[in-house]
Amino acid sequence: MEDSLEFNKLITGFHIEPEVIKYCYQCSKCSDNCPVTAVTSDQYTDTGYNPRGNILMTLLGRKDSLLEGDDLKIWGCTVCVTCDEVCPQNIELTEVFTFLKNQSIALGKGPEFIYGQAKAVYENGKAIPPQPAIERRREQLGLPKVSAPDVGEVQSLLKNMGADKKLK
Ligand code: SF4
Ligand code: SF4
Repeated sequence: MEDSLEFNKLITGFHIEPEVIKYCYQCSKCSDNCPVTAVTSDQYTDTGYNPRGNILMTLLGRKDSLLEGDDLKIWGCTVCVTCDEVCPQNIELTEVFTFLKNQSIALGKGPEFIYGQAKAVYENGKAIPPQPAIERRREQLGLPKVSAPDVGEVQSLLKNMGADKKLK
């Protein structure tokens, strides 16, 4: 119980408008308009990505349910911001979900694909490393070469943030 209250306090403290999240009345407009929910939800088994459910679990301080679930539970969000735009209570859901993702990484519970993506950024300075096939296609289309990022600069930025220590 104490853990739930502490988690709830952490989240409301992180949310830009701390009080606003408490006004969620579970109307489900966020889930109804979420493109990830549309392709992952299953009304018969109550599975899939569910922003409304995540806000409810957050309000209840259910850290266990949010951070111990499958990869889709909180990482399904692509941050398209649709839910923020349609919420009648002006709740910035994506801020809450960003907090949850950061908590998940801090606890070393992020999904493998996120570590893989972060590692690609660390090693190449960008999420999608240069590929000969893409370069060839660009040339055929008359597009200029993509300039290489300064990998050393990216790495020192990530090191300053302590992100390198979180890479598995
Ligand atoms: S749209 Fe807003 S008020 Fe409605 S369930 Fe989602 S977060 Fe709650
Ligand atoms: S920001 Fe995330 S939760 Fe909100 S609609 Fe987009 S994918 Fe769904």
